[in-house]
Amino acid sequence: MNLSLITNEFSLQYPQYKQQGLDKPQLNYDDIAQILEQHRNNSLFNFSQLGESTLGIPIWQIEIGTGDERILAWSQMHGNESTASAALMDFLNFLASEQQAAWCQQWLSKVKLRIIPMLNPDGAARASRLNAMSMDINRDASALQTPEGQLLMQAAKNFKPAFALNLHDQSRFYAVGDSNKTATISLLAPAFNVAKDINAIRKKAMQLIGDMHDLIQYELPGHLAKYNDTYSTRSFGDIFTGMGISTILIESGAYPKDDNRSVARKLNYQLLILSVQSIASQAYNKQSLAVYDSIPYNRKEAIKDVLITNLSINLQQHQAKVDLAIEFKKQNQAEIVEVGDLSVYSAFHCFDASGLDYQSGKAYPLTTALNLDDAAYIALLSQGYSHFTGDSNLLQVKTSLPVSINGPSSGPTTPELNQAAVFLMASSEGVQFAMLAGLLVNLTTGQLVYQRGT
Ligand SMILES: [Zn+2]
Repeated sequence: MNLSLITNEFSLQYPQYKQQGLDKPQLNYDDIAQILEQHRNNSLFNFSQLGESTLGIPIWQIEIGTGDERILAWSQMHGNESTASAALMDFLNFLASEQQAAWCQQWLSKVKLRIIPMLNPDGAARASRLNAMSMDINRDASALQTPEGQLLMQAAKNFKPAFALNLHDQSRFYAVGDSNKTATISLLAPAFNVAKDINAIRKKAMQLIGDMHDLIQYELPGHLAKYNDTYSTRSFGDIFTGMGISTILIESGAYPKDDNRSVARKLNYQLLILSVQSIASQAYNKQSLAVYDSIPYNRKEAIKDVLITNLSINLQQHQAKVDLAIEFKKQNQAEIVEVGDLSVYSAFHCFDASGLDYQSGKAYPLTTALNLDDAAYIALLSQGYSHFTGDSNLLQVKTSLPVSINGPSSGPTTPELNQAAVFLMASSEGVQFAMLAGLLVNLTTGQLVYQRGT
């Protein structure tokens, strides 16, 4: 289709539609409720309450347009996946703007769109994938025991959409095929049977994905992947496809130095505009399935948070030069997750440790009060200490560098899996770098080599 408007004009205009206050990793009900309230009286939007979550939080739906071709879009059925909820708010701002009145008039007379922003507000409140009953709503499409899953099924049966957009977030560790690029968007036209047959319904979803591919290849070349289409009897995408709804899974993923996924968020906004336009004009009909086939698969665990390469290790006279993969965990922790030849991976942060030896850090015993400012800390790290033991009340932490208390008396001789990422790296002239909870400190400059995050 002709993507020039969506890729140029609408892309340039995006900052004026981008909803303020949503640039954070997790959105909850209050974040979107006030924005929905601002749009409630707009005659373009028909608001109604679809129902309520397990714990009684409202789940809203908004209908837009008067046409025959129906599109159902929902976000955040996994409560900790909020990128598309933000994009839906941007999209509503776009539709509501006077500047886009002509666009809306042209396309919204041909389609009817129903949006359900944040299907799982209970999970959102706890930053959890699951609903309040600890069930995965997207594994409940067949059993339909969750109130939220029941509501989604009810919406699909009442509204009878031709197309459905199932909006999620995916792991930051996915790469696009064999490349070292992050999968910033991944798409799927789910199968409706084990044989993964392509009928007319699924074909339409694949063709619309072809249009989406063209847009993303223009905006962010190389960062689009697709999911494996193994049939899942419990997932909404697969069940909906089987019900005759051309369903597309859109997963927002990571991009370097973009912890809040604003790159994927903007692409979602563009994909929503594209979907309306392509479905309204039936432009997708012209897409060849070869485009869908050409999209590389997601490669799992291919991107690491941190890769330390060429680090010398030595265990009972066995010497090796290894790469270490380190993963950031919750509560500002980090762990070593892989050791060896990791040259098939890439990372958000890479550090070449050529010429450096792994050195386990000693525990510094706290027996008297210690005023731990940056200079004192760097001095201790340089002397081979990496953490503290004893009475933590004696430690006055005045440094912003990560501090570990009450670890083992000394770390393992060589790096081990699931070991806390707290160790030292030394040259023949002594300790040069300290790895502190996944962050690397250059002991000569006292500076962090990179910041936590992507
Ligand atoms: Zn999800």
